[in-house]
Amino acid sequence: MVTDNPYRDLPAVDVLAELVESQLPRALTIDIARSALDQARRDIADGVEPDPERLARETIRAVERAAGVPVINATGVLLHTNLGRAPWSDAAVRRATRAASGYSNLEIDIDTGDRSRRGTYVESLLTLLTGAEAAFVVNNNAAAVLIALAAVARDRAVPVARGELIEIGGSYRLPDVMDVSGARLVEVGTTNRTRVGDYETAVQTHQCGALLKVHPSNYRVEGFTEETSAADLAKLAAANDIPLIYDIGSGLLDSEAPWLPRWLAGEPGARQAVEDGAGLITFSGDKLLGGPQAGLIVGSLELVSRLRQSPLARALRVDGVTYAGLAATLEAYLDGAPTTIPFWRFALVEASSLRGRCSQLADRVGGTVVDGASTVGAGSAPGVEIPTPQIRLRERQDLYEELLRQERPVLTRRDAGDLVVDLRAVEPNDDEAVATAVERCL
Ligand SMILES: *Cc1c(COP(=O)(O)O)cnc(C)c1O
Repeated sequence: MVTDNPYRDLPAVDVLAELVESQLPRALTIDIARSALDQARRDIADGVEPDPERLARETIRAVERAAGVPVINATGVLLHTNLGRAPWSDAAVRRATRAASGYSNLEIDIDTGDRSRRGTYVESLLTLLTGAEAAFVVNNNAAAVLIALAAVARDRAVPVARGELIEIGGSYRLPDVMDVSGARLVEVGTTNRTRVGDYETAVQTHQCGALLKVHPSNYRVEGFTEETSAADLAKLAAANDIPLIYDIGSGLLDSEAPWLPRWLAGEPGARQAVEDGAGLITFSGDKLLGGPQAGLIVGSLELVSRLRQSPLARALRVDGVTYAGLAATLEAYLDGAPTTIPFWRFALVEASSLRGRCSQLADRVGGTVVDGASTVGAGSAPGVEIPTPQIRLRERQDLYEELLRQERPVLTRRDAGDLVVDLRAVEPNDDEAVATAVERCL
């Protein structure tokens, strides 16, 4: 029924909510329908043709997508922080699903019925893999650094090289974390050079609680540089009866693993940091480890026990799902070359196989296959370029955005007027989806 009163032609809220297809909870759909009708009334008042149905559909689609959809990562950035860093292995997903779908013995000894501590299995895998006496898990590496400093060096000075006062994307700044931990930052050395003597002076002039070494994982200082080794710092720390805390950041378990790609040379490993004598070593679970978001800490039993007793331990603890994902991820390393972990599968895929996949894609959508480079991402392995054949397409208006608007969004990279499609972090099964998406957008 069309009347000459445009306000009366607007549908009722629940009629509009029925009209638009929505996967969202009904209350949210109703809420969106109501807002669309409010907008329609304002449009009528402004003399604009109202279209509440279209507006409601668009809003619902935007909210559904913002709620989380799988994205195909064709950026060539393997650990893309905006895409959730490391995808989990199938084994990790299965184990986590099992942990989430019912009760489990998270904190109970099922042989005796006594209460137990969570995470002991993952801790045993970590000590086995790194050679450390003890391990502890918190919810990310920022938390790991925080609890290590708070438990070991609260109200004490902690010397850090000026070249290692890092900021990681997303508001992690080491000086701010130190501030919150209660440890007092003492800057030593210069931006490009820090010698063991600089730390020695600091230890002599301040009441130090620890030495802190940080792997500058997202930048590189080149040229006239000097860095003090973990081994030298561990010796100095031991001579002064304080520990060395070493934030290796990226989470390589063993830098001497035979299957590691050459381009990762120089990235510190947890096992090597233990051998060098660091008392506490911290790293992320979702960077090079290729597992869930977590902060992993390995070190001496005495120091790790202090972390466990810290009031922060409870505030920063992880749940059974994270432990399950970590357990499956760490087991893959114990079983040899961990190509069941997506990150390593992508990292180790041969350029020749990528070139073949690129050619097939180029046959369908055009573009040129070029020798390009992927990167590790997530502030890991700065400056490292992984040789990777890629497709370059002349960037037509909005192609980048249109690929994101697809049912399964495809994230690509823009470079110098071209659109770069990099298949290194794309599962071969998804090549077809990439091809279809590009075809549809062209
Ligand atoms: C990534 C990183 C962090 C922060 O780790 P999150 O797991 O993202 O909290 C801290 N320090 C270093 C050296 C890093 O590389």
